[in-house]
Parts: sequence; structure tokens; C-alpha cells
Amino acid sequence: MTESNNNWEYAPSLEGTSHIQLKEKYDLFIDGKWVKPSNNRYFDTINPSNEEKLAEIAWASDADVDLAVKAARKAYVEVWSKMKASERAKYIFRIARLMQEHARELAVIETLDGGKPIRESRDIDVPLACNHFFYYAGWADKLQDAFPNRMIQSLGVAGQIIPWNFPLLMAAWKIAPALAAGNTVVLKPAETTSLTALKLAEIIEQSGLPAGVVNIITGHGDTGAAIVNHPDIDKIAFTGSTAVGKLIQKSVIVTAKRVSLELGGKSANIILEDAPIDQAVEGIVNGIFFNQGHVCCAGSRLYVQESIAEEVVRKLKQRMQSLYVGNPLDKNTDVGAINSKEQLSTIEKYINIGINEGADMFQVECEIPSKGFYCRPTIFTNVAQSSVISQEEIFGPVLTIQTFRTIDEVIQKANNSPYGLAAGVWTDKGSRIFNLTSKLRAGVIWANTYNKFDPASPFGGYKESGFGREGGLHGLEAYLK
Ligand code: NAP
Ligand code: MG
Repeated sequence: MTESNNNWEYAPSLEGTSHIQLKEKYDLFIDGKWVKPSNNRYFDTINPSNEEKLAEIAWASDADVDLAVKAARKAYVEVWSKMKASERAKYIFRIARLMQEHARELAVIETLDGGKPIRESRDIDVPLACNHFFYYAGWADKLQDAFPNRMIQSLGVAGQIIPWNFPLLMAAWKIAPALAAGNTVVLKPAETTSLTALKLAEIIEQSGLPAGVVNIITGHGDTGAAIVNHPDIDKIAFTGSTAVGKLIQKSVIVTAKRVSLELGGKSANIILEDAPIDQAVEGIVNGIFFNQGHVCCAGSRLYVQESIAEEVVRKLKQRMQSLYVGNPLDKNTDVGAINSKEQLSTIEKYINIGINEGADMFQVECEIPSKGFYCRPTIFTNVAQSSVISQEEIFGPVLTIQTFRTIDEVIQKANNSPYGLAAGVWTDKGSRIFNLTSKLRAGVIWANTYNKFDPASPFGGYKESGFGREGGLHGLEAYLK
């Protein structure tokens, strides 16, 4: 491969869509039935890779939220809390199996609606989502073993609100542990990516889960706020931006509701001079460019030890030139479409801020489709620690690069952030890994890898990245008292 290999042409390898059946209009899934929104309002969901309309989605009002909460309460009191735990487990297991059967359909819909490369939705999102249901199905009848010598009890009705970057996976992270712990659910997906949650509702319907145990209602921010403010909800689980997380925290603080918040991030990826450089470069690319940087724990701040900085940046630029940006349905695509026009303009705003702050920008010179929302992978060098682009979450394929000389310096720089969700450390030495992982203020720290997930390991943040953990036993505990 030459240094400039951006002239490589791949023959397109498009994933088929003929097996996908979307309804023209989606209603609300409440009490096991498809219900029209009370105000008869719908909004369009589009494919961000070509701006074409995919379907109309119901916009739930306060009255619809109330209906969903009532259905969840009734199902909790009359059915789900009375059911033997081993029976509950069977339903969760059945949902997991049905999701696997529909895996290809779910992956394609995720890509159509959200813009992420099919390779990601097929190989990461959908299998991980299934695994979450399998994992928690296994715990459902072993809660007493999971928490020995403690009197445990389910909470009741959980209101769950999720973002657009991992729509199906976030739904699985929320629904599976809630059900395993014996709760019922009202879930709202993000307005730009409702379709896989609605497909999941169809799967849940097919699974024969008793009516009202899971209710899926769609809408905008006001629908989310109505869930948060509903008096008969026992627990709010929210994943999304820190700004909305703060609003939610304020509104529940005067109530008895439990709350867990999984919020934004600005995670540090740290490359020490003894790191395996080629693997580290791959880890940087995986950490920020795959999935368009639409990852809460994206390694969006790179810290490279000074002695290897030149080599790392040179190799990174070379690798970036071979990234394939384009149609998310193409199996060659590394970087798909930005989720929405609004998100694209936010990213572009930050790129301009970086330029105005005096940082040096490098962008891949690839062609991008003329329709749809795309952003070229971008890096900034010569970045000040206090700059806006190194402090604020951009949520796009934009990386800031800084250098450091000593370990103490990089610990201080990495921790100098309002966020604390994740971090990466690349080094040959185990002792350095232990030293850094014990001093970095981040909920998840990867060593010599990045963005790896497993249902058994808890995930969550410090500081403005939120509190509470999802995954593993911690994730179960969040739905028990
Ligand atoms: P967002 O704007 O906060 O939206 C998240 C969800 O909240 C959406 O369903 C949204 O509905 C809803 N919502 C909006 N306003 C609300 C309100 N006042 N009350 C209740 N709900 C409300 O976040 P986003 O832009 O979708 O997602 C990106 C953010 O999520 C990033 O900051 C990212 O870091 C974070 N994230 C964190 C994690 C984690 O595990 N820590 C994981 C993934 C993403 P609408 O879509 O209709 O506005
Ligand atoms: Mg969409």
C-alpha cells in the first residue's frame, strides 16, 4: 500500500433490502396493542444517507404516556410481579431467540433509519442486543444468588428514554435487565431512530409476552419529558445528552423516583511510547471514526507521547485515507451517514470553532455522496487543552490530538474534563496499564483495545457522564430495591 491510497476503488457490495417490510405508518405499542396517538399526530422518519422518507411515526401526547404507564402498572400488579421468576426468564429468552431470527432485518433497518454502516449494525449492534437479552434471561430466576443475604424486590414501572446512536442496543440495555428484575416498562426511542424499537415491539408481540409488560411509545422530547414527570413511574433510566440529563435530574429530585443517567463523554485515548503503534492506530480509528463518532464513549481526545507523535500522526493520516465514507448499506463502508441534518451542522460548527481556535486541521480528501448527511473524518493537531474542541463533546468523526512527555502529565490532562465515561491506554507494560487505570477518572478503561462491550461487564460514567451502571449485575441492581 502506498502512503496515498485514496484512489482505491471498491466494487459496491450493497446489502439487500428486499426482505425488509416497513409499515407506512407506525402507531404506539401500548398494552400489547397498536394504538393511534390521541392527538392523531405523526412525524416522518428519514434515511439520513439519502434523505428519503421511510415511514410515519406516532407522536405520543401526555394522554398516551398516561395510557402506557397505566398499562405497565396493571401488568406489573396483576401479572408480571406475580409470575414465577423462571417463567419470566422464558419470555426474555424467547425475545432473544426471536431477535436472532430477525437479526438481518433488524440490522438493515438500523442502518436505513440511523445511517450507521451495515457492518456495524450487523456485527456489533444486533448481536450485542441479542446477547443482552440472553444474559439477563439467565439471571431472572437467580436474583437471590446474585445478591445473597439481601432482601430484594422489583421497583415497579420503569420509564426508559434512549438516544439515536445505538437505538436497538440501548433498548436492549434498558428492557432486558428491567424485565429480569421483575419490572414493567415504558420505553421511548429517539425521534430520528424509532424503527428498530418498533420492530422490537413486533417481536415482543410475537413472543407472547403478557400485554402491558413492555410498552413502546414514540415521539419527541416532550414525550420523554411526560414520561419523566409521570407520577406513577418508579424509576427513570435515561441515556442521552448531559443537558437533558441535568433537566431530568432536576425534575425527579423532588420525587421518590429512582434515576440512572448515562450521559455524554469526551474520552481520552492515550498512546505511550512503548505501544504497538500499528495496533494503536487501528484502535484510534475504531475509537472515533467507525460509526461516525456517534459513540458516547468515543476516543475523541487523543494523547500521544511526544517521542512517537510524529510517527503516530503520519500513520493515522495514511490509515484515514483508506477509510471508505459513503452509503451505509455498502459492506465496504467504514464511515456512514451522520444521523441527522442537525447533528451534521453541530459537527460542522465545532470544526469551524477548531479552525478559529488556531488548531491545524486535516481532513480525508474522499468524495462523499451529494445527497444525505456526511462528514469527512477529521483530525486537529496543535490543540490547546483549554480549547473548546478538546473540552466539549462533538459526537462526530472529529479527533483532537495533543502530546505529552510524562505519565503524570497525561493523567492530569486526561482527567481535566467535565466528563468521565471511558478511556483507552496503549502500552507494552502491564505495570503502566495498572498505574493509569487506577488514576484515570473514567467508568470504563480499555487497555490495548477500544470500544469493546460485553453484557456481563458494567458500563457507565463519572462526573457529567452520569451515574448508575448498565450491564452485568450492576445493571440488574439498578432495577431492584
Ligand atoms: P438527547 O437529545 O439528550 O436525547 C436523548 C433522548 O431523550 C431522546 O429520546 C430524546 O427525544 C429525549 N429527550 C429530549 N428532550 C427530553 C426531555 N426534556 N425530557 C426527557 N427526554 C427528552 O441525546 P441524543 O442527541 O439523542 O443522544 C446523544 C447523546 O447521548 C450524546 O451526548 C451521547 O454521549 C449520549 N449517549 C450516552 C451513552 C452512555 O451510555 N453514556 C450512550 C449513548 C449516547 P428526541 O430524540 O425526540 O429529542
Ligand atoms: Mg431516521
